[in-house]
Amino acid sequence: MEVKDRMKIPRQKMPEQDPKARGKNFDEVPYGYDENTAVTEAQRCLKCKKPPCVEGCPVEIDIPGFIVCIENKDFDGAIRKIKETNGLPAVCGRVCPQEDQCEVRCVVGKKGDPVAIGRLERFAADYERNKGNVFIPEIPKSTGKRIAVVGSGPAGLTAAGDLRLMGHDVTVMEALHKEGGVLVYGIPEFRLPKAIVKAEVDYLGKLGVKFISNYIVGKTRTVDELLEEYDAVFLGTGAGLPLFLNIPGENLIGVYSANEYLTRSNLMKAYLFPEYDTPIVRGKNVAVFGGGNVAMDSARTALRLGADNSYIIYRRSRVEMPARNEEIHHAEEEGINFQLLTNPIRFIGDDKGRVKGVECLRMELGEPDDSGRKRPVPIKGSEFVIEIDTAVVAIGNSPNPLVPATTPGLDTSKRGTIIADEETGLTSREGVFAGGDIVTGAATVILAMGAGKKAARAINEYVMKK
Ligand SMILES: Cc1cc2nc3c(=O)[nH]c(=O)nc-3n(C[C@H](O)[C@H](O)[C@H](O)COP(=O)(O)OP(=O)(O)OC[C@H]3O[C@@H](n4cnc5c(N)ncnc54)[C@H](O)[C@@H]3O)c2cc1C
Ligand code: SF4
Repeated sequence: MEVKDRMKIPRQKMPEQDPKARGKNFDEVPYGYDENTAVTEAQRCLKCKKPPCVEGCPVEIDIPGFIVCIENKDFDGAIRKIKETNGLPAVCGRVCPQEDQCEVRCVVGKKGDPVAIGRLERFAADYERNKGNVFIPEIPKSTGKRIAVVGSGPAGLTAAGDLRLMGHDVTVMEALHKEGGVLVYGIPEFRLPKAIVKAEVDYLGKLGVKFISNYIVGKTRTVDELLEEYDAVFLGTGAGLPLFLNIPGENLIGVYSANEYLTRSNLMKAYLFPEYDTPIVRGKNVAVFGGGNVAMDSARTALRLGADNSYIIYRRSRVEMPARNEEIHHAEEEGINFQLLTNPIRFIGDDKGRVKGVECLRMELGEPDDSGRKRPVPIKGSEFVIEIDTAVVAIGNSPNPLVPATTPGLDTSKRGTIIADEETGLTSREGVFAGGDIVTGAATVILAMGAGKKAARAINEYVMKK
């Protein structure tokens, strides 16, 4: 097909659940491409010789390579190509910020809409999983080296998979009862079904990675104790500690951190009521504070748990919102009430100590601040109260402190992140590597995976020289 004909094909839409219906259920919102649509979308790719999209991908997927397979209807070939560098394709196809990474660099996007790389990745992964016949690559002869991976989020899972494919004996230790990190306890079912994360974790199990859950490194065993048994340790413990607003009334009943709210809904299955009777306040008027993916997920979860009004309260404007555009758009379609340029100043309680309102100030945008975004400035005398019965604070997370606190000689930054070499993940302790949110602070799935990949390479070199 000629380039000009490829350029004429419009970006293929992905069908999704009707916004009214989906506000009442936890089923996944987009349905994914069918085979014909995927092939048509694949025809839009120009298979560039020096593909800029690949440079935007932290795990270096051969993007034109897998897309040409889809165009030729070789769907098995497509997923094998992706899996050469990415062990979590169904996850990445769903939640990666493609619009800021591979797709933003796509040359087709210079004149129109970029190739839907993420949707094609999702298609290839779903095709393989739905067929029920997952390809298992051959594992090289055992090296006899033992590696401990602490934390089973995307950083830990990626490091574990890559190290196993190098022939090492890998054990993943996870504090919670289920593997997946934020992919299972944070991101809700309607965006990333748990069954998909489980399938990708099971794939690692089939490769021979061992998993131990309910195992808290720093309490069950320390890193120093692990080093007596293992040749190297990878720390992928994430940024699981919630930040709070630090305003009066934050201790009132009905005020949650997003971590607790989403964990109760996702991991403790409050969303499956009445099958699971997990305690969670099912507010009628819920306010969520923040403008990132976590805030969108919380507001949309509140709606699905039965709220009449689910507010996003954010102190800047829509343009500065850090959430993915697609998710802001989905939230708008579902009727989430956006109170932009609005900052909470105190929670108001009733005589039983329950939250009944939040007082806010309207803001305007001033000069850019350290983050490069316009600074929100309060408008004097603009105080007003929103009546609420539940509040969810989603303004960010800081690193999990337990491992640094129990590992002498492990250097950390002022923000509490572990200091690690960007290229190798090596920390200040010999044989101890780290990557993902515990090093960068709260970031993205694909960056955590990229860090896990780089660390796996360095760990391999380290243990093989030992
Ligand atoms: C609600 C929500 C929505 C998000 N949406 C997106 C999105 O759409 N796209 C995107 O790219 N990113 C998104 N993110 C961010 C992304 O999920 C994280 O950047 C990513 O999961 C970080 O991976 P990680 O492996 O470093 O850590 P995590 O996923 O946090 O995993 C760390 C794991 O380590 C375990 N652990 C911690 N301490 C210990 C210990 N001492 N011993 C044993 N185990 C321990 C934890 O229980 C956890 O399972 C979202 C985050 C949240 C919270
Ligand atoms: S930049 Fe766009 S057109 Fe070029 S190979 Fe990548 S996806 Fe295809």
